[in-house]
Amino acid sequence: MARSDEDTWDLASSVGATATMVAAARAVASRGPEALIDDPYADALVRAVGVEYFVKLLDGEITLEADNAAMLAVMTDVMAVRTRFFDDFFLSSGLPQAVILASGLDARAYRLPWPSGSVVYEIDQPEVIEFKTRTLADLGASPAAELRTVAIDLRDDWPRALRDRGFDPTAPTAWIAEGLLIYLPPDAQDRLFDNITALSAPGSRLATEFHPDAGARIGASSQRMAEEWRRHGLDLDMADLFYDGERNPVVDYLRERGWEVEARSRPDMFAHYGRPFPTGEAVEALRQSLAVTATRR
Ligand code: SAM
Repeated sequence: MARSDEDTWDLASSVGATATMVAAARAVASRGPEALIDDPYADALVRAVGVEYFVKLLDGEITLEADNAAMLAVMTDVMAVRTRFFDDFFLSSGLPQAVILASGLDARAYRLPWPSGSVVYEIDQPEVIEFKTRTLADLGASPAAELRTVAIDLRDDWPRALRDRGFDPTAPTAWIAEGLLIYLPPDAQDRLFDNITALSAPGSRLATEFHPDAGARIGASSQRMAEEWRRHGLDLDMADLFYDGERNPVVDYLRERGWEVEARSRPDMFAHYGRPFPTGEAVEALRQSLAVTATRR
């Protein structure tokens, strides 16, 4: 179903299901001696959501057609590299105030070694926040920092909700927006960065990923995936969830607003983490994505 301005979801539907999808990829990418990441909660979180397709994926019970199986392997690597990039961002920033925008099933507040006294804010839609917090508590997991959840839509007045939870705009902050931008309309993306900028004291840091083609090419390959998913009983078409249309390029947008910005291409990120980047038409869209880090002057 197409998007609307006030749409909502849980972790099994619409945009929420994409959080479960990437957590399933993190669970698979955490396995084996060569694993680039270690997310010990992803597997249990995906099982708790209970979408049959993703659970079967974890159990190796899904056989895909050759092209889609290859794509799935690529996406698992993409998620491993992406996860490491954002993990390393937090580890290297060393700032005691952090905000995870669109936190989904991200368990960084629980699994990263935060500096003592750190406060981590997680922002996502109410049902997403409630489910993950309750499930991790049921699993006996404790946050490794003081965790403050902010249950709100990022198209609403989230800066006020964040401040109401005690966020300090005078202290430098480490922000991440991972797997979020293409699910926001272009103007909401700009507002997101305007709000982040307004809340960022000098020395604040930001990491995100930007897809210069605004999801259109990714949408084409995801439709092929959607057909295959449908055959396995999963009704999810990522192309319905993206917002197309001209988008301000994040790198320029941030530079013009007082951030020092670095951007690295996905193949560079793969090389950085010692993974070969695959070749072929199917991965062309993925090649364009940029891993962006920025520091507020
Ligand atoms: N960042 C997480 C990760 O990488 O595991 C989740 C990424 S998932 C692909 C997209 C997330 O964005 C979902 O958790 C979804 O709920 C959240 N999201 C998208 N649009 C949102 C909005 N308007 N308000 C709040 N959350 C939103």
